Amino acid sequence: METNSKNLSFEFYPPRTDPGNEKLISVAKELELFKPEYFSVTFGAGGSTQEGTFNTCLALKNKTTVNPCAHISGVTASKEEIKSILDSYKEAGFKRLVVLRGDLPSGVGGYGDFPYAKDLLEYIKSVYGNQFHIEVGAYPEVHPQAKSADDDFIHFSNKVKAGADGAITQFFFLPEAYYEFMERSEKENLGIPITPGLIAITNKESLLRMASNCGAKIPKKIIKDLDSLNDEDVAKYGIDVLTKLGEDLLSFGAPGIHFYTINKLEPTKAIVESLKL
Ligand SMILES: Cc1cc2nc3c(=O)[nH]c(=O)nc-3n(C[C@H](O)[C@H](O)[C@H](O)COP(=O)(O)OP(=O)(O)OC[C@H]3O[C@@H](n4cnc5c(N)ncnc54)[C@H](O)[C@@H]3O)c2cc1C
Repeated sequence: METNSKNLSFEFYPPRTDPGNEKLISVAKELELFKPEYFSVTFGAGGSTQEGTFNTCLALKNKTTVNPCAHISGVTASKEEIKSILDSYKEAGFKRLVVLRGDLPSGVGGYGDFPYAKDLLEYIKSVYGNQFHIEVGAYPEVHPQAKSADDDFIHFSNKVKAGADGAITQFFFLPEAYYEFMERSEKENLGIPITPGLIAITNKESLLRMASNCGAKIPKKIIKDLDSLNDEDVAKYGIDVLTKLGEDLLSFGAPGIHFYTINKLEPTKAIVESLKL
């Protein structure tokens, strides 16, 4: 299938129920019309969603024409566990991965064989060579646990040097953070596409919660604007903000956009339509 020249991709999480699975496939079928490069599916460190990642990727592969891209994280895993998961991905014909450290689930102590994403990436390369196209996470506003912005960037560039084919950013609302990150990546000749990840704004509370979980900065103007709007106007406002952000990023030269959909068709569909991608 021909893909969009601007490399759209959509991220889902594995649903826990049959109706959730059905709904996800119907959302994916609608988003398929935008000819995305892939659908990615998140992975829960040390938990119950791991089988869900495999099953959801398989369902997307069987029921749409879009390549699935399975996330995998190593923070709690042993080499044997990772190999068994990756063998199943390989056997099912999945060719793309997002390779992550993950976060330790509450109540789980200690680390497995892969304390950082780079360790997992190196292991995957050593066992599977170039069989998987690998994306890694990037943090234009700096990862919340990083010692410093400089230290975080060094760790990011080490993931690229270890063989990442591309990177997807954590979501953000200030385009300058992405511009600066890209300028730095160019100076260091990192030479991989770094795709901005965007998340829709649907209401103030969920925006503040999500942003505080990952350290994303929210412009004061957005918070002030949201306070003065009713629910219906918030939805329209969120589409306008994200469309403007997407336009700015694409005209700066971003290779595409990765949408964190939270398994919902709207407002992602409306934003992609407004971007005329
Ligand atoms: C696109 C995207 C998709 C995601 N999908 C998922 C998912 O499916 N499931 C999930 O659980 N989480 C997911 N996450 C969240 C991610 O797991 C967390 O942000 C996690 O805290 C960091 O993962 P990472 O791969 O970026 O880690 P790393 O690149 O390993 O970095 C983590 C932290 O450690 C520091 N660091 C790295 N290497 C070293 C070193 N050698 N020594 C000291 N410090 C070091 C970095 O500066 C950073 O602060 C996703 C994030 C992104 C951006």
